[in-house]
Amino acid sequence: MDAAAVNDLLAFLRFPSVSTDPACAGKVAECAQWLCARLKALGLEAETHPTPGHPAVVARNRHETGRKTVLIYGHYDVQPPDPLELWTHPPFEPHIENGIVTARGATDNKGQILAHVLGVGEAMKRTGELPVNLIFLIEGEEEIGSAHLEPFLLAHRDSLRCDIIAVSDTGMVGRNIPTFTYGLRGIGALEIKVTGPSTDLHSGIYGGAVANPATMLARLLATLHTAEGRVAVEGFYDGVQPVSQAEKDRWGRLPLNDALILQLTGAPQLFGEAGCTTLERVWARPTAEVNGLKGGYQGEGTKTVIPKEASAKLTFRLVPDQKPDEVIDKVKAHLTQHTPPGVVLEITGGHTGAPYLCDPDSPQGMAARRALQRTFGGEPALIREGGSIPIVNSFKTILGVDTLLLGLALPDCRVHAPNENFPLENFFAGIRLNQALLEELAQG
Ligand SMILES: [Zn+2]
Repeated sequence: MDAAAVNDLLAFLRFPSVSTDPACAGKVAECAQWLCARLKALGLEAETHPTPGHPAVVARNRHETGRKTVLIYGHYDVQPPDPLELWTHPPFEPHIENGIVTARGATDNKGQILAHVLGVGEAMKRTGELPVNLIFLIEGEEEIGSAHLEPFLLAHRDSLRCDIIAVSDTGMVGRNIPTFTYGLRGIGALEIKVTGPSTDLHSGIYGGAVANPATMLARLLATLHTAEGRVAVEGFYDGVQPVSQAEKDRWGRLPLNDALILQLTGAPQLFGEAGCTTLERVWARPTAEVNGLKGGYQGEGTKTVIPKEASAKLTFRLVPDQKPDEVIDKVKAHLTQHTPPGVVLEITGGHTGAPYLCDPDSPQGMAARRALQRTFGGEPALIREGGSIPIVNSFKTILGVDTLLLGLALPDCRVHAPNENFPLENFFAGIRLNQALLEELAQG
């Protein structure tokens, strides 16, 4: 089965299913068709559902009353592979070396979702049936914000009704350490632009006469934090739940320590909100980040210019119980109030997503932890993650169920970056994990 499973993975990875690139739309659709055919070949009833964007693939076994219904969610779309020159092998020609497959989408999310698919195939082959009513929902727009998934959930609320959702799109704290993620940060995004003179100016003729928008943007952005790394927006921390002592103790025992994080980041030193550990800062504390800056001359050499405008892209990672829309309003008020003289500020709002937290000790959480333990043979690490999966909140609000996050990504798998990779041992573990999970959920 190993060779056939690997061949399936390689075939899946060869589709350049880059959802954000219109030139790839045909390949995205072909990838959905391939996946649908693969699900049908296992004996499931499968369909590709068109959406106003890329299709969603839905599959199910024959449902029987009296059994638990489990929905497994994942995505077959991938991030763009750029910059191409940093890949050691072409991103859509998967390459296996030392038991690690390198390709765009290897970890995020094709390797992980295909492990679930093949796990179901194994169970069907072994016993002719699954212990639960199963629904696969595999979308093609996760990497571009899942814009059409919520309407899809609303339109198909009855047929997608389930008791629990399982997702493998998060990480493991280290090799062979089973990891159960029970919290995610939320997100709020903004773009800001400061405008000064009506045109770029000669910095000799006019330098000293007007405010420089690039300088003023830097000054404005610097007001977002205190020197100690706290976010300086008034009311930003309203509603933030403190980290419990139990969590602090648990996280303190993880092998994911500062030395390792320093190594993984390649930064000269770690930095963040004073008074919190690094894991608290990335998993349970909110942040403000500048994701991009634009303004003035970017070419070779010198150009003596005062740019007419400068802009920045900002995101805020949010934690329970912050309210994303309220936080964004506070940030807007802060930016408006702190706009330096001589420039005009323009703010455009981006998307928001709420933070997520579930109880790792719930019966379903315990079932997931047992499945992880059976698969990897060790006590699962219980963690939160700093990233955001906004659709998890839509599952809660629209379908009314919790999501179990059983990730298989390693800290150095380079998700969204060149040379994304996935160890085959994690892929095979995922196939076993799926079977253990469905068995445990059937009983739990
Ligand atoms: Zn991703």
